[in-house]
Amino acid sequence: MKKASKPLLNTRLSAQSSKDLLEDRREKATTRYPFHEISEHLDVKISPRAKRMALRVDAKDGSVKLVIPKRASIRSAYEFALKNAYWIKDRVAEMPEAIAFDHGTVIPVLGKNRKISIDYNSTLKRTSIILKNNEIIVSTNKEDPSSRIKRFLIDLAKKELTALAHLKAEMADRTIDRVDVKDTTSRWGSCSHDGRISFSWRLIFAPMEAMDYVVAHEVAHLVHLDHSPNFWRVCEQLSNQYHKGHRWMKKNGAQLMRYGA
Ligand SMILES: [Zn+2]
Repeated sequence: MKKASKPLLNTRLSAQSSKDLLEDRREKATTRYPFHEISEHLDVKISPRAKRMALRVDAKDGSVKLVIPKRASIRSAYEFALKNAYWIKDRVAEMPEAIAFDHGTVIPVLGKNRKISIDYNSTLKRTSIILKNNEIIVSTNKEDPSSRIKRFLIDLAKKELTALAHLKAEMADRTIDRVDVKDTTSRWGSCSHDGRISFSWRLIFAPMEAMDYVVAHEVAHLVHLDHSPNFWRVCEQLSNQYHKGHRWMKKNGAQLMRYGA
């Protein structure tokens, strides 16, 4: 049986390289069709895993992704996009505008509107950022400190979410192993059975009751891993405005994606 392994490996190798070649050709084929005329925000992707042609809104970069299964023809993908041109335009039009971390921009942080104030000074050795009342004061030697501001907000989110999660875990008589923050697109929080909780750092831009609700939700999963009536009862005990917070997240959650783009 062992002898067969070599030729098998060879066939797989040649199949691999011709597959790469094919994918290369297909990638080029997408440029033969004027996808960009349908919408300049349309992003064409050939996916080896996708089973069906699909259009997906990506609030993070303000694009609509056209996912083409490996086996589908580019022509049929173009026709599919063309047929859905109005749908694509509508989705792009209703997408909230991205908000960059620029000087003078007002962003909600921990339930309060704060103005970003950037003080540029080339002689400074490093960037320092402080949150002071209604301002985020940035002293920097960088011409574009936006990535530093983002880092600062991620750290702040981690600190606040961790403290809140531990507080609620204590109320629920549970312990948390660790709290992480991530840049997730589809989930605001997750909880594993071994007591690890993670949150989207973008919750820092949500009103306090919404952030409180998401934390209560994940901590309540330490008690019940399902979404049973018992789970919701714990949720309610852990967050006194959880209905309001839940509603806000459902209605406005996607808006949190536009900050710092
Ligand atoms: Zn849940």
